[in-house]
Amino acid sequence: MSTPQRSYKTAGIVLRARNLGEADKIFTIFTLENGKVDAVGKGVRRPKSLLAGRLEFVTEASLSLHRGRSLDVITSAEILVEHWRAIVEPDAFATAHVIVELIDAFSEREYAMPDVYALLRGVLRALSTSTDPAALVPRFQLRLLGTLGYAPESDACVRCNEAFDDRAAWADLEAGGLACERCRPHRADVLALGPSDVANFRGLAAWGENGVRPATRATIAAARAVDAFVTWQLGKRTKSSRMLDELTYRGASA
Ligand SMILES: [Zn+2]
Repeated sequence: MSTPQRSYKTAGIVLRARNLGEADKIFTIFTLENGKVDAVGKGVRRPKSLLAGRLEFVTEASLSLHRGRSLDVITSAEILVEHWRAIVEPDAFATAHVIVELIDAFSEREYAMPDVYALLRGVLRALSTSTDPAALVPRFQLRLLGTLGYAPESDACVRCNEAFDDRAAWADLEAGGLACERCRPHRADVLALGPSDVANFRGLAAWGENGVRPATRATIAAARAVDAFVTWQLGKRTKSSRMLDELTYRGASA
């Protein structure tokens, strides 16, 4: 029987932190190799701490950790990329929280972490240079669903495989994709997408060369459909749903 390594190194992105005792914090970090990890930063709230300022919200850092009995302990952190200065604008900050909330919620399960990590890193990079941060959300949501293996089918009807051509479609959550008029579930709450929304949804779902690109802005119906697929997979609503209301309001006033 081999002894597990007491110390390890990994890259990680800080999702959130909460105070512990007088001077410590517990950081929730999405790590490249181990997925989501809760780890203690000892003395991090003291001004002279070597960790202070290196573990801000969504900072990507190279970390050394020590396995503790209950929680791991961060022994060193070197900043790889810090985003907080680039996301101080309210829209960017709110969008960062939506992204983190989704990563946080979905990473309760065991997934291909390096892929999710690459996605998170990519969307944060896109966010830090975006002039329209909220527009990233539907694309990111679709990328995340795709990375986790839940990409909603949108090339053709998810039930009968008939091409939509220039027709409307409905978000068939149970079937996991867009359905044609003949196949769609007949319930009052099924989201309808007009022909341009269907095209928009498919444009959003098309993978860029790397990461998330803000090239296509979601129509309101497409954004709502994407969010509905996320909510369905997650089994609960997130803040992004509330953010969509804001999007709707802006779209309506534009
Ligand atoms: Zn069909």
